[in-house]
Amino acid sequence: MYVETSEFAGAPDVAPSYSRIESYIRATEFDRPTLVMDRDLVAAQYRALVAGLGNAKVHYAMKANPAVEVMETLRDLGCGFDAASRGEISLCLSLGIPADRISYGNTIKRVRDIQFAYSAGIRLFAADAEEELEKLAAHAPGAQVYIRILVGSTEADWPLSRKFGCAPSKAIDLLDRARALGLDPVGLSFHVGSQTKRAKMWAETLDRVAIVWHKARAAGHGLQLLNIGGGFPAFYEESVDGPTSYSLQIIDMVRERFGADVQIMAEPGRGLVAEAGVIAAEVVLVSRKADTDLCRWVYLDIGRFSGLAESEGEAIRYEITTDRDSDAKGPCILAGPSCDSVDVMYEKRPVQLPVTLECGDKVMIHSTGAYTSTYSSVGFNGFPPLAVVVL
Ligand SMILES: *Cc1c(COP(=O)(O)O)cnc(C)c1O
Repeated sequence: MYVETSEFAGAPDVAPSYSRIESYIRATEFDRPTLVMDRDLVAAQYRALVAGLGNAKVHYAMKANPAVEVMETLRDLGCGFDAASRGEISLCLSLGIPADRISYGNTIKRVRDIQFAYSAGIRLFAADAEEELEKLAAHAPGAQVYIRILVGSTEADWPLSRKFGCAPSKAIDLLDRARALGLDPVGLSFHVGSQTKRAKMWAETLDRVAIVWHKARAAGHGLQLLNIGGGFPAFYEESVDGPTSYSLQIIDMVRERFGADVQIMAEPGRGLVAEAGVIAAEVVLVSRKADTDLCRWVYLDIGRFSGLAESEGEAIRYEITTDRDSDAKGPCILAGPSCDSVDVMYEKRPVQLPVTLECGDKVMIHSTGAYTSTYSSVGFNGFPPLAVVVL
């Protein structure tokens, strides 16, 4: 399933094998759902993205998966980090990541956390409101700030649009305000929406941001930094462009609109780590609500609250494999183990699973390296949070 490997052909490194994770899962008895990551796959994915991103600065959106070994792998490759809280900043610092490789990209920051970040040496912050700029001016005086633009509806599978960013019409006022407050307004940012499957889906968003960019420059702001956020897709059910060609296309589209000297920063989360992990889980019960029902219900020991939150709205559809996949398959509603009726992953579009599937069978849930361990509740209904092993 690791469809991108052809991109590594001819690369100096031997393409890391996805099967290392699968062999490990087959050979191991787990007593709870466990995400198994391969750090070589993270490194390969980073290299593949960077091959397309060129001299853009990459800041890993660490909320996707802050496992220490993942962080260390990216640190050692020279990657930067986008942090959203004191906790994430502290983790970076504890791993020896220098402050000048950390951005504080959350537009909603507690004053105490701004103070903490500033005293730790962080000088690059996001903002999308006057009050946030005032907080930054007071507690991170002189810091560099980029203004996040709300880009409206996108074609992403997991949009992030409404909560963050200011309307394009307000951006120049905020840049003016930042300058008046003694901050250093260096640029703009946006997020096209997570899991934006095709590079061409960026065009409209880039057009909108470019209008603001050129207006701001005409108004006397010497903007240099364009933070293009994340959105780089992972392979789930439908094919996506490979990481290198995808990011090459994005960079071309950016340079076309923003000029050759714009300093680009990217914040991939999902696109760096999703395909580097597989969850090992177990079937707890297979049943039919009535003997005549076509669909079986398959209950796993992992659910919406223990790592599979992104199945919400059935937006992200993970590929699921079992050791019985050579048997005939039939439609199943897939649900988690907790006593909450929302804890159903896929029902509108049932999942095809082997007709022979039964309690105790191991299942592998693929491309689950992003937004699983961090979305898992601490112990809803007494079920443990998702365990993580990094090979
Ligand atoms: C979550 C987040 C990202 C990462 O998004 P992906 O779609 O996972 O790449 C990047 N930038 C910001 C500001 C984020 O909040």
